[in-house]
Amino acid sequence: MIYNKVQQEIAQKIDNKAEISDWTNWKWQLRHSIKTLEQFENLTGIKFESKETEQLQQTFEKFPLSITPYYLSLIRRKDYRHDPVFKQSFGSPEELITLKSECTDPLSEEKDSPVEGITHRYPDRVLFHVSNICSMYCRHCTRKRKVGDIDYIPSKEQLTEGIEYIKKTPQVRDVLLSGGDPLMLSDKMLDWLLSELIRIPHVQVLRIGTRMPVVLPYRITNSLISILKKYQPLWINTHFNHPNEITDSSREALAKLADAGFPLGNQSVLLARVNDCPKIMKSLVHKLVENRVRPYYLYQCDLSEGLSHFRTPVGKGIEIMESLIGHTSGFARPTFVIDTPGGGGKIPIMPNYVISRSVNKLILRNYEGIMTTYTEPNDYQSTICNNDCEKCTLQVTPTDTDEFETIGIEKLLSDANDTIALIPEDNERIQRRNE
Ligand SMILES: *Cc1c(COP(=O)(O)O)cnc(C)c1O
Repeated sequence: MIYNKVQQEIAQKIDNKAEISDWTNWKWQLRHSIKTLEQFENLTGIKFESKETEQLQQTFEKFPLSITPYYLSLIRRKDYRHDPVFKQSFGSPEELITLKSECTDPLSEEKDSPVEGITHRYPDRVLFHVSNICSMYCRHCTRKRKVGDIDYIPSKEQLTEGIEYIKKTPQVRDVLLSGGDPLMLSDKMLDWLLSELIRIPHVQVLRIGTRMPVVLPYRITNSLISILKKYQPLWINTHFNHPNEITDSSREALAKLADAGFPLGNQSVLLARVNDCPKIMKSLVHKLVENRVRPYYLYQCDLSEGLSHFRTPVGKGIEIMESLIGHTSGFARPTFVIDTPGGGGKIPIMPNYVISRSVNKLILRNYEGIMTTYTEPNDYQSTICNNDCEKCTLQVTPTDTDEFETIGIEKLLSDANDTIALIPEDNERIQRRNE
């Protein structure tokens, strides 16, 4: 465990008897999270003038402040206003600006919620909000609407509603625990929750989305690991946004998780003046893979209320992807996605590589700008699929196709389905036909 001078100084200001064992105790960190401007000023020596203090107080009334002492210790004070850790944790009066295009629930998570705590958007997987709290309140949180609701961890009874929904919904094969931060639950509660979920026959994988390795790496204790290990396959996604967040302590937490056999992923959010730079993102993804974490998603910043100062044009993300694809290891690049308003889900965005095509040739360009060709087969025998897998010569295991139901664009492409167009229900012209 690392305990540097800045950390010692902060720990001792919090409690002059504090020792390294306090600092690295996650519960001590939570008990001493920084929740007021005064605490922040005392611990960092940074002072704000009275006008700014007033604006900041207003901001924190709407969107509360909470920073773990550990994450606070990563702020580089000399140029703190431009510091990526400061920007993600401290907030700015710009959060009080609301644009017309912004909403409190841009992803319509509440509309797609069959029972409290569950968002069921995709056919085979659900998001299960198992806690309402986090160890640090990210200023760019997409669920900002919920931050500062009365902090609570749902009771077993409340969680049971979600578990029951999953039990009676056989198409759910993947359950993603989210929040808040699921690792805010006690070890005992997690043990219970995961044991309930893994026991459901149709649930094939569990996932946890957590920012603990970034903001409170000491949460990754040996006892937590020994509990989580019982519930493989368990995929863990974390949320690093900047290379400065990869410290000796976070490395240690990631190593524990990787050694225990959990596949690790990372979701970053593209944030203006925090990580909107190809060099920063390249350095971040390299550090992640060095620590056995695979970059999973890079998100375009959502249209949540109060995030306008964090948003970049989509083109910035494409530029970053352009600088990664081909330039570095394939497994080091995330998929750039827009989580679309209204509940459309995540839509991948890529630079364009297909320049043109004819019946048998594709013209492509590579990352260097070289124009090249791919000649397609002339004698490809297309098989018409009628969904009769038993008669098919391809070795499809029928049990894998039992619940085969095509929807959306997949349905338009399918030979076995007669749908020729997807028409919005309220299309006026089609309505006229019926009149
Ligand atoms: C992101 C998300 C998921 C998981 O999506 P993957 O692309 O499988 O990672 C599931 N449900 C909801 C509501 C989500 O927002």
